Amino acid sequence: MTVLGIEGTAWNLSASLVDDDEVLCEASSAYIPASGGIHPREAAQHVANNIAGVIRQVLSSTDPRLIEGVAFSQGPGLGPCLRIVGTAARALSLRLGVPLVGVNHCVAHIEVGRWKTDLVDPIVLYVSGANSQVLSYRQQRYRILGETLDIGIGNCLDKFARSAGLPHPGGPKVERLAQESRNYLPMPYVVKGMDFSFSGIVTAATEALKSASLEEICYSFQETAFSMLVEVSERALSQMDKSDLLLAGGVGANARLQEMLSVMCAQRGARFYAPKSEYLQDNGAMIAHTGLLMLRHGIQTAIACSGANPSFRPDEVEVPWIETH
Ligand code: AMP
Ligand code: MG
Repeated sequence: MTVLGIEGTAWNLSASLVDDDEVLCEASSAYIPASGGIHPREAAQHVANNIAGVIRQVLSSTDPRLIEGVAFSQGPGLGPCLRIVGTAARALSLRLGVPLVGVNHCVAHIEVGRWKTDLVDPIVLYVSGANSQVLSYRQQRYRILGETLDIGIGNCLDKFARSAGLPHPGGPKVERLAQESRNYLPMPYVVKGMDFSFSGIVTAATEALKSASLEEICYSFQETAFSMLVEVSERALSQMDKSDLLLAGGVGANARLQEMLSVMCAQRGARFYAPKSEYLQDNGAMIAHTGLLMLRHGIQTAIACSGANPSFRPDEVEVPWIETH
């Protein structure tokens, strides 16, 4: 089966063509804010200006008659971006005369990770700009075991970086600066059961800018926030009695986070997996691949049900394609 997928929830507009085995083609256009963070209206304008171009690029790589489905990111994400992506996907599906399928962006992050690591049933730590969740598959759904009570870890890093005068996206800049220090400053460590909260770290780190070096703040920020994520991931492995941990989402590119998670997994005899960063960050292939799985299991989205769903949660999606013994 060959499916075209379109991702456009926030910063990376991306279209891709996949079949059952591999990514056949991908074209992307990243929105880089001139100043500040992601502005929903500007991000949507970026999608509107570039969506025809990325789709045309992907279509030109194949005979469009071979495409058997059109998948699109239906949510969660920025409403103004999602609406444009949905409009393009509906038009394309009608034009090609093939089924339309609306994909949950979080589920797509998980599915591309499972695809690229050959995992069947892992605990998933999903860490991106707006989302931070620990999930586990059970009875046809990805259950959210724990999640952030306020902002996502990526937004938390980006927000602090902005207040320190660093350009967007802040995550990779904080990672680089953190490597220059080993001096730990205490920061709010907030884990409540399986949930966690990051906004206190942003406040503390911003306040610390008055008296400490940027390098030691970045180091302490990462050590604190990532330890919280490691704690909850470990508890999830233990409580669900699973032995694989899969990292998903753009913040997963962080080498220190990967190191901390792999040490925890090694200590408890579990295995740790992270796909390459092109499949951690937002990408069209994850939408196309998840759309393919859905279509293979008879799931399609009627035009009338294809509207944007900015607060779409992963546990709303039926997942019939995982076979656990
Ligand atoms: P996504 O929406 O999944 O593509 O993730 C985007 C988020 O990942 C942004 O908040 C980035 O700042 C963050 N990010 C990207 N690379 C890194 C990194 N190396 N370390 C920490 N955060 C990162
Ligand atoms: Mg994402």
